[in-house]
Amino acid sequence: MNTTHPFDEFGINLFSEQVMKECLPHPIYTKWKTATNKEDALDRPTADAIAHAMKTWAMEKGATHFTHWFQPLTGSTAEKHDSFIEPGEYNQPISRFSGKSLIKGEGDASSFPSGGLRATFEARGYTYWDCTSPAFIRDHVLCIPTIFVSYNGETLDKKAPLLKSVEAISRQATRIVNLFKDKDIKRVHAMVGLEQEYFLIDNQMYHERKDLIHTGRTLFGTMPPKSMDLRGHYFGSIPTRVQAFMEDVDKELWRLGIYAKTEHNEAAPCQFELAPLFNEVNIAVDQNLIIMDVLKKQAEKHGFACLLHEKPFRGVNGSGKHNNWSLVTDDGQNLLEPGDRPHENIRFLLFVCAIIEAVDKHAEMLRMAASCYGNDYRLGAHEAPPAIVSICMGDELEIVLDKLRRGDSELKNKVETQPYEIANLSYVPKDTSDRNRTSPFAFTGNKFEFRMVGSSRSASTTNIILNSIVADSLCRIADELSNYKYIDDIRKKSLDICRAILQKHSRVLFSKDGYSEKWLHEAKKRGLPNIPHYLHSIDSLIAEESVKMFERNGVYNKTELEARVDILIEEYRKSVKVEVLTLLDVSKKDILPALVKEIQFYADAQNALGKTNAYFTRKLDYLLSLLDKLDNAYHTLKKAMEERNKTKNSREKAYYLDEVVVPMINSLGDIIDKVEEAISRENYPFPTYDDMFLAM
Ligand code: ADP
Ligand code: MG
Repeated sequence: MNTTHPFDEFGINLFSEQVMKECLPHPIYTKWKTATNKEDALDRPTADAIAHAMKTWAMEKGATHFTHWFQPLTGSTAEKHDSFIEPGEYNQPISRFSGKSLIKGEGDASSFPSGGLRATFEARGYTYWDCTSPAFIRDHVLCIPTIFVSYNGETLDKKAPLLKSVEAISRQATRIVNLFKDKDIKRVHAMVGLEQEYFLIDNQMYHERKDLIHTGRTLFGTMPPKSMDLRGHYFGSIPTRVQAFMEDVDKELWRLGIYAKTEHNEAAPCQFELAPLFNEVNIAVDQNLIIMDVLKKQAEKHGFACLLHEKPFRGVNGSGKHNNWSLVTDDGQNLLEPGDRPHENIRFLLFVCAIIEAVDKHAEMLRMAASCYGNDYRLGAHEAPPAIVSICMGDELEIVLDKLRRGDSELKNKVETQPYEIANLSYVPKDTSDRNRTSPFAFTGNKFEFRMVGSSRSASTTNIILNSIVADSLCRIADELSNYKYIDDIRKKSLDICRAILQKHSRVLFSKDGYSEKWLHEAKKRGLPNIPHYLHSIDSLIAEESVKMFERNGVYNKTELEARVDILIEEYRKSVKVEVLTLLDVSKKDILPALVKEIQFYADAQNALGKTNAYFTRKLDYLLSLLDKLDNAYHTLKKAMEERNKTKNSREKAYYLDEVVVPMINSLGDIIDKVEEAISRENYPFPTYDDMFLAM
C-alpha cells in the first residue's frame, strides 16, 4: 500500500527558498537573498557554494544533467543539457558543477531567432542565471531558469525584459507608496495568476488529423448541432481517463512546488482549465511555461493530445489564458485593494487611474501583447473579448470615478473642503468578479484580469508591456507628487491628478456587454482602436511613443524592439505558410480523392440501375459541383501563395498573406466542410469533430 500522501511530495523537485535555507550556510543564504532583492550582486564564492549545494541536492534526487533553461524569442522554452560528469584523476568519473556554470552559460545560439541582433560573426549568446526564479528537476535534469543575451548585451529572450519591467514597476510603485507613508517599503511586486485553458483529444485521432499535427488547429470540420446539444450529457462528468490524467498533472506540478488545481470546464466539449495560485510575475510566467509542457507530456502518457491553440476547432469556443495582475508591497499590502480608510483609498484611486491612463494610451500594444495569428480566430468571435481594449471597473467604481472626473461644483467643493469624502469606497462591494465576463480587462475586486491573452502564448510579453506602461504612468505621477511636501497636499494633489487622467482617458472605461454589436459602434465613436487583425498591431511596438516609453523605463532599446517586430512578422508568416501548405496537401492527397470516390460510388449505382434516377442525378450534380469548387479553391490558393514571392519585403509579404491568403484558407476550409457533410462516413478520410469529441 502506498502510504505517502500526494501533498507530502509538494515541492520535492524544487530548489526552493526553504531548501536553500536548510542546505546553505547562513551567510551564503543571506547573500543570495540580498541578490534576489537587487540590493547586491552575487559574488563568485557565493555562487560556487550555491552551485555545489544545488548539485548535491539534485544528484540525490537522481539528476545527472543540468540545463540553462531559457525563453527564446519564438517558441516557449529551450534548453541544452550538460551532464555533471567529468573525468577525474585515474579517469574515474567525478561530478562537478561550479558557480561559473551556474551563473553563466555560453553556446552557439545561432539556431535561435535574434531578429538580426546577433551578427553572424558573433553568433554566441550567453545565458545568465535568474536567481529570483527557483531551479527545478524534470526528468533527471536540473533546470536553471536563465536569461539569454547577445555578446553586445542586447536581450535575446523574453525573460530578461520581463525582469527589467519588474524592476521598473517596483521602482515607480515604491516611490508612490512611500510618498504616502512614514514607514518606507523597499519593493512592490507585480503578482500574477495565470488561468490556462486547453483541449484534450484522443491521441490516435489527433495523429489522423494532419491539420492538427502541423498547425495546431483543424483547418476544416464542422460541429453537428446535435453534438453541441448532447454536450451536457457527455461531458457532465469527467471521464475516468481524463480524471487519471488530471491527477497525474496535479501530482507532477505539486512536486515542482506549483499550487495547481485542474478543473473541468464546461465552455466547450473536451475543454479544461488549470489555474495555479498567483505568484511574483517572473515565477508565475515560468510556472505557466512548465504547466504547458507538463500538460502536453502527461497527455501523451494518457493517450491524449493536449491542444494549446487559441482556436483548435472551427466553430467551437477556443482557449485563452487569463492574466490576473496586481501589485503587492514587500510588507504584503495589495495596492489594488480598496482599503477601509479613506487615505488608503486615495492611494488605491491613484493606482487605478495610473492603470487606466496606461491602458488607454497603449491599448494597441496590449492587444498585440496578448496575441498571435491563432488568437485572431478567437477575439471578437462572441466567445472572447473583441479586439478592442477596454476596462471594466464594475458599476459601483465607475460611478465613483465618474464623480471624480466630473468634479462638478458641488463635488469640487466637497473635495476641496473634505478631500477624502469622494474616496470613501466602503460601500463598494469587494468582490465584483464574475459580473462581466465579456470585458478584456476587468477589475475583479483586488486585481485586474486581462482576458485577451491567447492560450498558446507565453505570458512574458503581456506582462512586460503591462508592467512597463503602468510603471511609466506611475513615474509621471510620482514626479508630479514629489513637488509636494505635506501629506495633505499630496492627497489633495493626488485627487487632482486622478481627475485629470479621468477627463482624458475615461473613454476606455466600459462595464457593459463587450460582445454586443452596439459596443463596436460606441467604441468607434469614442475613438478606441479596434484591430481585428493581429498583424496590424505588431508595429505598435516600434511606434515612437512606445520606443520612448520603453527606453525611459529601461526595458527595451530601439534595436531590441525592431528585432522583436521582425521576429513577430516572420513568425506570423510562418504560421500562415504552414497552414497553407498543410491545407493544399490535404486537399490534393486526401479530400479530392475522397470526393472522387464518392462520385464513383453514385455513378456506379446509377449505372447498375441501368436508368437515370432523380436522386442519383441530383446527388451526382451536387458532388460534381463541389469537386469543381474544391478544385478551383485549391488552385486559387496555390497561385496566391506563389504570388507572395513577388515582393522580397517581409512586412509586405505578411500583409499580403493577411489580406489575400488567409481569407482563402478559410474559404477552402468551408468547401471541405461541405464535402464532409455530403459524403459517406466510409469515404471521409479524417476523424470528424463528433469522432474526436466523443472518443474520450
Ligand atoms: P476566475 O473567477 O476568473 O476563475 P479565480 O478566482 O479562479 O478567477 O482566480 C484566478 C487566478 O487569479 C488564480 O490563479 C488566482 O491565484 C489569481 N489571483 C487571485 N488573487 C490574485 C491577486 N491578488 N493577484 C494576482 N492574481 C491573483
Ligand atoms: Mg478568469
